[in-house]
Amino acid sequence: MKEFHIAIVGAGPAGYFAAQALQNAQTENLKFAIDMIEKLPTPWGLVRSGVAPDHPKIKTVSKVFEKIATTDGFRLFCNVELGKDILLSELQEMYDAVVIATGSSRGKKLGIPGEELPGSLSAADFVPWYNAHPDYTGVEVDLSHEEAVVIGAGNVAMDVARMLALEPRELDSTDTAEHALEHLHQSLVRKVHICGRRGPEHAAFTSPELRELPKLEHTDVHIDQHQILAAKERAESQGEVPKDVKSNLDAMLAIAESEKKNHARSMYFHFLAAPLEIKGNGKVEEVIFGINEVRGDKVVATGENFTIKCGLVVSAIGYETIEINGLPYESGRVKNQDGRITDTNMYVVGWAKRGPSGVIGTNKSDSTDVMKLLIEDLKSPKSTPDLETTLQGKGVIHVSQGHWERINAVEVAAGEGRGKPRVKFVKREEMLGLK
Ligand code: NAP
Repeated sequence: MKEFHIAIVGAGPAGYFAAQALQNAQTENLKFAIDMIEKLPTPWGLVRSGVAPDHPKIKTVSKVFEKIATTDGFRLFCNVELGKDILLSELQEMYDAVVIATGSSRGKKLGIPGEELPGSLSAADFVPWYNAHPDYTGVEVDLSHEEAVVIGAGNVAMDVARMLALEPRELDSTDTAEHALEHLHQSLVRKVHICGRRGPEHAAFTSPELRELPKLEHTDVHIDQHQILAAKERAESQGEVPKDVKSNLDAMLAIAESEKKNHARSMYFHFLAAPLEIKGNGKVEEVIFGINEVRGDKVVATGENFTIKCGLVVSAIGYETIEINGLPYESGRVKNQDGRITDTNMYVVGWAKRGPSGVIGTNKSDSTDVMKLLIEDLKSPKSTPDLETTLQGKGVIHVSQGHWERINAVEVAAGEGRGKPRVKFVKREEMLGLK
């Protein structure tokens, strides 16, 4: 029987699905001892700090993660930071293989004047702020103006726009961070603009998310019907319309045609609107957009502009991977060949491998494919020092699976009396104190 020691760095969906693929590949003659290492005191990655609080169903995948984590041979080491508490080179020495599953957490920059003004922030800061990520509690979110602008036409932009445009009482029964919920209850924002630089037919939204919008109980959602009909016409003139595009356009048309209830809160979609400049005296006051048009298969500037006055701009235009010393990078992600990091015993999965695309489930097949290659590459197991002993020797306090289960139980219990799935801790000390 051969037993290989595998380290997985990053406790998000891609990391758990990699662990699951290894567990599923075990036989009488092949076993895996898996150590999962995570910087935060809590696991689950974007399922905890990314998925919108009003989408609790998506978070039920955490049950799968907990099953993986409580399977023999799996150990969790949260609160352990790569590069600080343990070096990548040490892991490469200690383990037969190292799997990088660290995602992409830095927001891409718009690269336009005014982007650094107070009141302009990235979804990469705003989303972890409302999701109680301990490193983002101090993010300044200016909700003192009636209008807010969200830049981007993807699902993150849609999450951000919903969080700003919902009646905050609708979030009371969710696991939104307490500090964010309190702030949202004081919000003066009533009109949220969501702006895509290309046409409706090019939007990165997915249709289930669009179909939810007309069902919002306290928010009217507006889309210009003519813009959608024109996009349909353009798409149809190019031949058979891809299924996802058709489905998106149908969902947008349904929003355009939905009855408006004169709610105090509203969301407006703008397409063919390219952000040119954010302006303001010491803080965001307006965003200037260039109007684009579709010509054949190109989107080009018309030279005309329009302005939206607002006090907050959130850009949700994609993410990049934060570099880790010792890893090769290319185009904002770890350089790899189908997940193999050439000439090393390292592999990469998830957003760190393929860039920030796909839904949580996409990571299952992706991680499984990479783990097949990892298993093919394994030869004979090395005898390795134990991570727990190494960390103890360095004085690093890690959060084990048992410790995490106590944190989890306290959070869930705190939510019970208040009709919430949980009340999340935001302070590391409080979580570490539950040891
Ligand atoms: P995304 O889907 O790639 O969308 C990014 C958007 O930003 C696109 O509309 C893109 O427009 C726009 N953009 C990029 N650069 C821009 C610029 N300089 N100026 C203006 N607009 C710009 O990324 P995402 O929304 O961050 O989502 C990441 C992944 O997570 C996606 O696969 C998404 O589906 C998934 N996700 C899923 C859910 C869910 O299932 N509910 C929720 C959240 C996220 P162009 O197309 O013109 O480049």
